[in-house]
Amino acid sequence: MGQIKKLLVANRGEIALRVMRSAREMNIKTVAVYSEADRNALHVRFADEAVFIGPPASSESYLKMDKIIAAAKQTGADAIHPGYGFLSENEDFAQLCEDNKIIFVGPSAKSIELMGSKLGAKAAVAKFNVPLVPGTAEPIDDIPAAKKLAKEIGYPVLIKASAGGGGKGMRVVENEAEFEEQMERAVSEAISSFGDGAVFIEKYVTKPRHIEFQVFGDKHGNVVHLFERECSIQRRHQKVVEEAPSAVLTPALRKAMGEAAVNAAKACNYYGAGTIEFILNENLDFYFLEMNTRLQVEHPVTEEITGLDLVQLQLKVAQGEKLPFKQEDLIMQGHAVEIRVYAEDPANNFLPDIGTLQTYVRPQGHGIRVDDGFEQGMSIPFYYDPMIAKLICHAETREAAIEKMIRAIKDYQITGLETTLGFCEFVMKHEAFRSGQFDTKFVENYFKPEVLNKTGNNEEELLAAALASFVIGQNKTTVQEPNVVAEESKWRKNRLA
Ligand code: ADP
Repeated sequence: MGQIKKLLVANRGEIALRVMRSAREMNIKTVAVYSEADRNALHVRFADEAVFIGPPASSESYLKMDKIIAAAKQTGADAIHPGYGFLSENEDFAQLCEDNKIIFVGPSAKSIELMGSKLGAKAAVAKFNVPLVPGTAEPIDDIPAAKKLAKEIGYPVLIKASAGGGGKGMRVVENEAEFEEQMERAVSEAISSFGDGAVFIEKYVTKPRHIEFQVFGDKHGNVVHLFERECSIQRRHQKVVEEAPSAVLTPALRKAMGEAAVNAAKACNYYGAGTIEFILNENLDFYFLEMNTRLQVEHPVTEEITGLDLVQLQLKVAQGEKLPFKQEDLIMQGHAVEIRVYAEDPANNFLPDIGTLQTYVRPQGHGIRVDDGFEQGMSIPFYYDPMIAKLICHAETREAAIEKMIRAIKDYQITGLETTLGFCEFVMKHEAFRSGQFDTKFVENYFKPEVLNKTGNNEEELLAAALASFVIGQNKTTVQEPNVVAEESKWRKNRLA
């Protein structure tokens, strides 16, 4: 396998830019692809060459495998980096690259296929002694049998789509009376979102924390982990604040989870960058959730604490190089926190708020990194994920990283649309987050839109609001607001149509 000379990046926005910058540092030429909506996008301007691939809808452009392969051939690109989302976890695309003698910067089509099914992945990693959430090993379709199993597992249970992703097709069932209704909803959501109605049952872990491990493998059979990321601050099962390391992992637990992560990667002969997602319960028992066979949105926190450029590592592995380190060579330095700045309105159930960046001024300073794909005056396109930027702060300690983040959020000036900045400031200042004692229900338990008006204005008022919601939140156990999810998926459907 030869050196990569020209890389096509089959993506857009911040991740396309982030990949191209690392490629350029390795003297690799870059090719952008773009849709009608991205004619003036920064990734198009940055690349050495750019190829137009179609109308704005991603189904007509960024998801069109044949157009992307044709763009690679037309420009003589010898490798394709898929970024995240779009075609990054599509085994057919990985195979198509291989068939066309183009290096796919990612794992083999086989690894993607195996880990693409949650049930298949669970079966594969179980053979390598990776702990699983108690649940069914096969898809369920017989309701009486499923109810019996749910009873054995013990309520609450979670019904999940095997082909699921992005928090879709997932339903919490509190008791037997609501089983059928929730099962029907999960199946219909799975069919409409993934074209595959296979669902299974898992024990619903209460007070769960989402802890994932970054893994890396090469094509010579070496696999290591690059420590964990805590991603428990989520809205609608979607991450919005991430950090590394986690505030709750002891060195012994980190070692055990890291070994399990490496085993899970070995279970699918993995090479390239991957993420093993675990769920951690109150007693610090951990269970495998799924594997993401690509670079994650939140990879920068791992880069900050390890000092490694994960995209350059991906490119090196893709061109056949061995990993340049062993597990024992890797150390964590300091603490990194990332917030996702979305064009969303937290006061309106985090629904997207697309518009123009009338003011856009990034924060600056030591230990502050902004990964974005926009400039002042640009509009956030309606067709794609409404993330504007990722803001990452790195400092010696968790406390210092959080303080830096609060300062950086205050310095970030965005007008013209609503963003998650104020909400993230609320998280940074909240006692539950500060103390490290939080779980994936943070938003449901503590966040009330009213607190936002106070954010950033008056410290005392903010603290009082946070404390009040903390107290209220303690007695709260409810989970989902179906209307929000329905509205959101309707919106998404329109957006993709
Ligand atoms: P997706 O692929 O749709 O993102 P995941 O399996 O990764 O689905 O789960 C997403 C989130 O849903 C997790 O981060 C966690 O918050 C929650 N979750 C998943 N499985 C469970 C479970 N068994 N118990 C409690 N929460 C869960």
